[in-house]
Amino acid sequence: MSLIVQKFGGTSVASAKLIFNVANIITRAYQEGNDVVVVVSAQGDMTDELIGKANEINTNASKREMDVLMASGEQISVALLAMAIEKLGFPVTSLLGWQAGVMTSSTYGSAMITKIDPGRIKKELDKKNIVIVAGFQGLSQYYDVTTLGRGGSDTSAVGIAVALSADLCQIYTDVEGVYTADPRFIKNARKLKAISYDEMLELATLGAQVLNNRSVEIAKKHNVELEVLSSFVDVPGTIVREVANMEKMLISGVAKDNNVAKISITGIPDAQGWAFRIFSKLSARDINVDTILQSAVHGDKRDIFFTVNEDRLSDAVEALNKYCESIEGAKLTYDKNVAKISIVGAGMQTHAGVAAKMFEALFTAHIDIQMIATSEIKVSVIVSQENADEAVRTVHNAFFSTID
Ligand code: ASP
Ligand code: MG
Repeated sequence: MSLIVQKFGGTSVASAKLIFNVANIITRAYQEGNDVVVVVSAQGDMTDELIGKANEINTNASKREMDVLMASGEQISVALLAMAIEKLGFPVTSLLGWQAGVMTSSTYGSAMITKIDPGRIKKELDKKNIVIVAGFQGLSQYYDVTTLGRGGSDTSAVGIAVALSADLCQIYTDVEGVYTADPRFIKNARKLKAISYDEMLELATLGAQVLNNRSVEIAKKHNVELEVLSSFVDVPGTIVREVANMEKMLISGVAKDNNVAKISITGIPDAQGWAFRIFSKLSARDINVDTILQSAVHGDKRDIFFTVNEDRLSDAVEALNKYCESIEGAKLTYDKNVAKISIVGAGMQTHAGVAAKMFEALFTAHIDIQMIATSEIKVSVIVSQENADEAVRTVHNAFFSTID
């Protein structure tokens, strides 16, 4: 007998029929003799719809009230799923985040899990109940409802798996696993049997939509094995664990992120401390800076280019405009029309020429590279948004067309 945590995303519970499909998956695991704890997201596009409803009333609503509203989506889905399981004749209890002991920081809208007290979940398991927990939500130390940020149910599931020392954490979704590129757009994308935490973390951060990156961080820290699999097709998924590259691949995947904007500041006098001045203004507003490029000194001036998340662009421009206006000759411009294309793979640590192969593919397709950033296991390029899909296709082909 094992303790299994299963997480189901919004598309997996989008209708009554799909809720029964999920109920069947859950009760099968239960009938096999396992203790089963389920974490569920809001149905379909419910969270977006709730945000839409809020915007009809007040586009400046406080984050606290937004969390009260958004958390309601998961309250609906746990109740409906529990009712379906009741109907199938199995013992079941639904729990909201706070009942399941999920305590968080009080940063509404992007709260961090601080502690999970699984006492109530364990009590229900002792009574042989299937336990259905609302994902995405928790309780702050002030007893306010919080949410963990978009896609946060993955984080709830992994956190609960850690707190229960679960034997397995299964993330059920609408794709069959982790692919070498988004299978909806890249026809010859392959499903990976396994991927390491580090590679998955890079892919999740770089725009692969399959797992929330914080959930992978927690899984890595606590060494919880994850399985990403489909709730629609009954086939093995992808295992996420410490060491994975059994398929001896040079790279594990190609990711695209459109939520990127480029900021250019030109004509900065070449005095010491300017990088500190610029980036401290952004960090004061909690704006993450990504790819950074600085020019050589020309005359006595320098230019600097960097990217931020597109949804933080106006904040960033606001933070920097004053500074730029105060410096004679400095000029700030920005461009939303860019995307980041990345290749990720532990294989590049031990193989030369991986970046060159990516650049060759882009060159052959006449795609201009605006910026480059690398880490031990990734190479990212910034290209114009019009070229983004073609860039993914051509880079993916360069690495994967010969396999299969
Ligand atoms: N329902 C929340 C969202 O749409 C959380 C989740 O689905 O993981 O972001
Ligand atoms: Mg998700």
